[in-house]
Amino acid sequence: MVHCSNQVVFKPSSFLLVNVANSCDQLANMRGNKRLESVVLSKMNFESFVRDLLLVRQYRVEVYKNASKSSKEHDWQISYKASPGNLTQFEEILFGGGGGPGEGAAGVVGVRLGTGADGQRVVGVGYVDSTLRKLGVCEFPDNDQFSNLEALLVQIGPKECVLPGGDAGGDLGKLKQVVQRGGILLTDRKKSEFTTKDIVQDLNRLLKAHKGETVSSAALPEMEKQIAMSCLQAVIKYLELLSDEANFGSFKITTFDLNQYMRLDNAAVQALNLFQGSCDDATGTHSLAGLLNKCRTPQGQRLVSQWIKQPLIDKNKIEERLDLVETFVEDSELRKSCQEDLLRRFPDLNRMAKKFQRQSSNLQDCYRVYQAVGQLPSLVLALERYNGKHQVLLHAAFISPLNDLISDFSKFQEMIETTLDMNQVEHHEFLVKPSFDPTLTELRENMDRLEKAMQAALNSAARELGLEAAKTVKLESNAQIGYFFRVTCKEEKSLRNNKKFTTLDVQKNGVRFTNSKLSSLNEEYIKSREEYEEAQNAIVKEIISIAAGYVDPVQTLNEVIAQLDAVVSFAVVSHAAPVPYIRPKILEKGSGKLVLKAARHPCVEAQDDVAFIPNDVTFARAEEMFHIITGPNMGGKSTYIRQVGVIVLMAQIGCFVPCDEAELSVVDCVLARVGAGDSQIKGVSTFMAEMLETAAILRSATEDSLIIIDELGRGTSTYDGFGLAWAISEYIATHLKSFCLFATHFHELTALAQQVPTVRNLHVTALTTDSTLTMLYKVKRGVCDQSFGIHVAELANFPKHVIANAREKALELEEFQDISRAGEEAGPEAKKRCLEKQEGEKIIEAFLAKVKSMPAESMSDEAVKEELCKLKAEVIGQNNNFVNDIVSRSAKVKLTSA
Ligand code: ATP
Repeated sequence: MVHCSNQVVFKPSSFLLVNVANSCDQLANMRGNKRLESVVLSKMNFESFVRDLLLVRQYRVEVYKNASKSSKEHDWQISYKASPGNLTQFEEILFGGGGGPGEGAAGVVGVRLGTGADGQRVVGVGYVDSTLRKLGVCEFPDNDQFSNLEALLVQIGPKECVLPGGDAGGDLGKLKQVVQRGGILLTDRKKSEFTTKDIVQDLNRLLKAHKGETVSSAALPEMEKQIAMSCLQAVIKYLELLSDEANFGSFKITTFDLNQYMRLDNAAVQALNLFQGSCDDATGTHSLAGLLNKCRTPQGQRLVSQWIKQPLIDKNKIEERLDLVETFVEDSELRKSCQEDLLRRFPDLNRMAKKFQRQSSNLQDCYRVYQAVGQLPSLVLALERYNGKHQVLLHAAFISPLNDLISDFSKFQEMIETTLDMNQVEHHEFLVKPSFDPTLTELRENMDRLEKAMQAALNSAARELGLEAAKTVKLESNAQIGYFFRVTCKEEKSLRNNKKFTTLDVQKNGVRFTNSKLSSLNEEYIKSREEYEEAQNAIVKEIISIAAGYVDPVQTLNEVIAQLDAVVSFAVVSHAAPVPYIRPKILEKGSGKLVLKAARHPCVEAQDDVAFIPNDVTFARAEEMFHIITGPNMGGKSTYIRQVGVIVLMAQIGCFVPCDEAELSVVDCVLARVGAGDSQIKGVSTFMAEMLETAAILRSATEDSLIIIDELGRGTSTYDGFGLAWAISEYIATHLKSFCLFATHFHELTALAQQVPTVRNLHVTALTTDSTLTMLYKVKRGVCDQSFGIHVAELANFPKHVIANAREKALELEEFQDISRAGEEAGPEAKKRCLEKQEGEKIIEAFLAKVKSMPAESMSDEAVKEELCKLKAEVIGQNNNFVNDIVSRSAKVKLTSA
């Protein structure tokens, strides 16, 4: 849920005050109000609170500081702010502890509608990712449902979207819905901010120049996209990129090509459970990202998420990634050493690159990069040991770039070795070597002397306490209090009543304490250390500014390590699955073939309590392209159709797949229509609306698309709903000719197979006895010949009287049908009913024929709805009891569900 109007203000004074406002007005009132409601938080709680607000709840956060000199007055001034799309100012708090992969990219898009040269409506998108320092623009025509925009938003995965404010009706209203469906925070900005007035000037500042060139944004090919550029301008303004000089000369701009990746709609992202949703368990095995992400570095984790959002279309690129994954699947020694040992040693280099660039790094950061680079030779050595069939590729993808990086960093490594005091690094102190400067040498000598004296103090304290120095009593230090003694809690009794020692604090790992000798030595030591830090300041500054020149190689190293980590992660998952995955055979787009043998759902089979039953699926152009799946509830229909989508996606991101054999043509998009879990409650009208939406969305599918429809509005077998389901299915099967899987409870739909030769019926199987129903989860050809509803209810422990009642009703219905069939032999009342039924069926058939013949693809949704209402009114107007009964029953369903 996105609360875009909620703002949270933190007011740090001597304590940290947290205030939550519900609207901008309230916020303004708070600024003027001196008596604020408050709560005090510790630093740790504050950090986790901010993380939760920004990353999970998607709030905006502002931190105010009291600028007033007097403690009695309040002059709150904003000093930091962040929103889910712009986390720059909170990066340290959010990701500083190294926790989490940085939640993938955090970007902001600006979207605006415009008119293209040919008078057609055009969607313009401008994109800023301030973490990765990327700008992007994209312009495209779109349909009523904004399917292209939806696919683009899935591919780039922004956290926030700025739109020109104004009325929310018409197109803009729909556009907002599309944005919100993707869980993206919406922010209205003034229309006047969406201009291209200053864009050339802004880009000249922000863009990175190639070596020796100055930037001339006016000549950029991206400038042609004026609508997109105006959106980019609005985002740049919103993020205030120009107010921070560190941003200058650091961005790259690209045109985003909508068709370079497989397109996914939000429904597909959800149906295929690509990312962890609220219902997932903590282990994350239910989502594909959770399953495939066995990365050892934050950058690897980010890349896996990005790859899942951007499945490849180019067969060569897919094969290349598969080759790399195969390398690590086949060479288990290499896989293990990378996963279990080598990759763990790399920090989040993207963060390091940013710190270098801002010159906000310190000696410790430089040391961490030094350490990471120091790991490269052993990584190269491990990779070079591989002598399988993909040696050349492995060399080009990893070994050669890593070797280049080793030489790029040689001077950096030298600098760190000559400047950093490696003896102190062991004690987690990052200082410049004393030999660098006579003052430093002198101070170091003094500090060494003090350290020795403190050792002596430890020995005498140990004697005094009857403990063993360096074993039961230790001399330790930390950044906050300097040197102290520590005993474990067990030894604490030896300290009791000894007035010579002062307890500093008691923690789980023991009691920290000091005595007068140690505390005076410590004071002296801290003083010397401060002097040392001051004396080394100029040298540190110099080192940091040299390090700033290494932003590009650090970024490149980040990318290479991320790629390696992601590829190794795929290999690890493919190898460690309950039944190892296999390499799919990829066919060119348009080959019209999709054959999976013994396919499994990777996330369902990974659950502990599931013995997964594999199933086959076959699609062949002009032979079988549309599968209707029927069968009992809980019989495995959804799992079956979704696993096909998941496998196609896995193959196109270059991962092995959970099948015995897989041969698949590249698909251009995966579209899904899946009933929400609560569709039973929502009722008939929602079902209609969803079906209409489906009809519209299908306008963007091609014959190379995969469509997954898991039927909506279960149990609401109304004729209008069925009519649409039929019309949509027929349209897909005969016009679009996409790969389609349609799971349904409408048995009537199976008749489509008799009319369209490429439609096939499949059903999930179950075994029934009088009292049991056993799901076999095996998908077989043909139509399911039994209805299992009551059995399922029994299994779900429905009250006995309800089951009995259901059986009675079902029997009545069967009898009623028998009576109708018997027709002639029955009494006059039954005869009349029978006649009315026959007549009614004709009316309904005529209604369905009219629905089918509606040119839905060329009509707006409103027009389709209107036409349907008219047709329905006509049907009711014929005053047939059989029809009226159905209509009033469906109205009741509506009422009860409402
Ligand atoms: P409904 O019609 O109620 O939507 P469904 O037919 O779509 O049900 P699923 O939701 O796919 O059924 O499956 C129900 C459960 O059965 C799943 O949660 C899973 O645990 C199990 N299941 C599904 N397919 C298989 C399979 N092939 N092997 C083993 N277990 C399976």
